[in-house]
Amino acid sequence: MLRAAIELLVTIILVIAARAILTSFLKGVANSSATAFQRGPQDQPSASGASQNAPSNTPPKGSELHKDPVCGTYVAESTQFRRQAGGQTFYYCSEDCKAKHALVAR
Ligand SMILES: [Zn+2]
Repeated sequence: MLRAAIELLVTIILVIAARAILTSFLKGVANSSATAFQRGPQDQPSASGASQNAPSNTPPKGSELHKDPVCGTYVAESTQFRRQAGGQTFYYCSEDCKAKHALVAR
């Protein structure tokens, strides 16, 4: 009696597990086919208007990255730590790097 109950329990657990796997598998298939469907129609206009492809690849203005000349970190253009010298604008990750660079480069 107890063994039958355990067998039943194991069967139920296996069915639930199998269904969970099947559901996630079907979801994955649905997602990939959905993205393929979304990608399909967008491909055709961009192929005819190739010149419109470039702006979508560049980040929006203000979020452009500049290399910190001191530590090499890439810093957003909107950072408050920047300094103009010799007609060039330098961007820093911190007040520390800004101060260090100001000592070295004038
Ligand atoms: Zn830095």
